Amino acid sequence: MLIIPKLVDTGKHSAIAVLTSGGDAPGMNAAIRAVVRYAISQGRQVFGVNKGYSGLLEGQITEMTQSSVANIIQRGGTILKTDRCLAFYKKAVRREAANILVRKGIGALVVIGGDGSFTGAHLMQTETGFPTIGVPGTIDNDIEGTDDTIGFDTAVNTAIDAIDRIRDTASSHDRIFLVEVMGRNSGFIALSTGIGGGAETIFVPEQKTSVSDVRKTIERGIRRGKSSSIIVVAEGPKPGLSQKLAKDLKKYGYDSKVCILGHTQRGGTPTAHDRMLASTLGASAVAYLLAGKSDAMVGVRHNQVALVPFKQVVGHHKKLSKDLLSLAQKLAT
Ligand code: ADP
Repeated sequence: MLIIPKLVDTGKHSAIAVLTSGGDAPGMNAAIRAVVRYAISQGRQVFGVNKGYSGLLEGQITEMTQSSVANIIQRGGTILKTDRCLAFYKKAVRREAANILVRKGIGALVVIGGDGSFTGAHLMQTETGFPTIGVPGTIDNDIEGTDDTIGFDTAVNTAIDAIDRIRDTASSHDRIFLVEVMGRNSGFIALSTGIGGGAETIFVPEQKTSVSDVRKTIERGIRRGKSSSIIVVAEGPKPGLSQKLAKDLKKYGYDSKVCILGHTQRGGTPTAHDRMLASTLGASAVAYLLAGKSDAMVGVRHNQVALVPFKQVVGHHKKLSKDLLSLAQKLAT
């Protein structure tokens, strides 16, 4: 079980702000709630920024109270809304954003988001000195420096639930199903979904898998009496990968059905795991800020809350575990 680190409150930051940015993830609301309620419990004022960096630049900043975050822990998405803000790539715009916060009397900013959002926060802090801290919120779990991200567990559970249903049909009709899950550049969702859903083959962007490998897996299954197969495919950088694989399998004489889970994986009620993770990381982010720490992400390492400097996080590529990939292959035989 994760616990909030014991830190000394330096008395810094009488007011802090919180925003969500980039792709939404289930559990972001639980993180907002934790930031707001923990900060208030420590005698601080808290402001919510609507619509990520775009809303910040538009001055959409309002004070939050304990009741602003009532009844949201179980809701997916983000009550603060999220956005992608192209203007934030400009240095002058980031300076303006810091000035807006300072003029409001706000001393630090909590950014709940992914690698891109943290890059923006890191640049704003290094260029202006305005303290920022990150809470990892993305279904992809592809952020370097943390073993887990808010929303990942929910997304994987959603995908596994879909696979369980698809398997009923696959085995009743003796069919091969290609189930496409999210993951343009990373296979974390595909790998966990594949292992947890008992898939025969898993396609991830990090590893080359050929259609002839898939054919071998299918034929090995047939030899020992299997009549259906579930193949989990991470969407990859270019659209249409599953359809292409289905066409290629057809060339070997195998009919298959494609099921793209798409955005169904993004929303929904966060799991207990994600609610706990979000509550602990959100509160820890505030605790670190009040202890005078910033320019860093609050993540999970070796089952403990850890503060990881942004420069060790942003722009780095988190590697998929080779051991897990090899386990997936062994268990699929
Ligand atoms: P995520 O945070 O989920 O990785 P994005 O990559 O879309 O999502 O980033 C979210 C927002 O963060 C962007 O719309 C932009 O406002 C800001 N951002 C991303 N990358 C940078 C960057 N290199 N410099 C400044 N801001 C950035």
